[in-house]
Amino acid sequence: NGIPVAIVGEPNVGKSTLLNALLNEDRAIVSEIAGTTRDTIEDEISIGGIGFRFIDTAGIRDTKDVVESIGIKKTFEKIEQAQVVMFLVGSPQLVVGRDAIEVFKIEIEKIKNKFPQKQLLVILNKIDQITDTDLAELTTSLTPHVKNLIPISAKTGFGVEQLTDSLLNLI
Ligand code: GDP
Ligand code: MG
Repeated sequence: NGIPVAIVGEPNVGKSTLLNALLNEDRAIVSEIAGTTRDTIEDEISIGGIGFRFIDTAGIRDTKDVVESIGIKKTFEKIEQAQVVMFLVGSPQLVVGRDAIEVFKIEIEKIKNKFPQKQLLVILNKIDQITDTDLAELTTSLTPHVKNLIPISAKTGFGVEQLTDSLLNLI
C-alpha cells in the first residue's frame, strides 16, 4: 500500500482535476457543479519509484446539506489516515480582495492546528486564470505562513512536476 496523501479543499477548486493529472487517466469526476464529488476516490500511483495512495476528498466547507456533511466527516477521517495533506485553493478566489487571503490563511492555520503531525502542501491551483502580478502578490503574502507553497494549473499541467518533486522531498 502506498503512502496516503489526502487532497483537500473546497468544492470546485480542482481536486479531481489534479488527481486526474497525477493519475494521467480519467478516473475522478470533474464537474462544473460544486459539491459533486460526494464519495472519496482513491488510487495508487508510483512517482519516482515510490507508491502513493491519493485520496480525493469531498471538501471541507461548512454546510447544512446532509449528504455533503457526511462527505465532510469522511474527509476528516481520510485526513486522519493520511501522511501528507495537499490543501488546494483556487487562485482566482484569492485575488478578489485582501479578505479572501486572510480567510485562507486562517484555514491553513486550522489544518495545521487540527493535524499538526501531517506534512502539509498548500497548492495554489488555476494559476492560468490569474495574472503574473497577482500570483507574485499572493506568493509574497502567503510565503511567511506556508512552508510548502506550490502554484499549479491542474488543467494545463503547469507546476504538476514541481508538485511531485516537493512531494518526494517531503517523505
Ligand atoms: P473539485 O470539486 O475540487 O474536485 O474540482 P474539479 O476538479 O471538479 O474542478 C472544478 C472545475 O474547475 C472544472 O470545471 C475544472 O475543469 C476546473 N479546473 C480545475 N483545475 C483547473 C485549472 O488549473 N485551471 C482552470 N482554468 N480550470 C481548472
Ligand atoms: Mg472533485
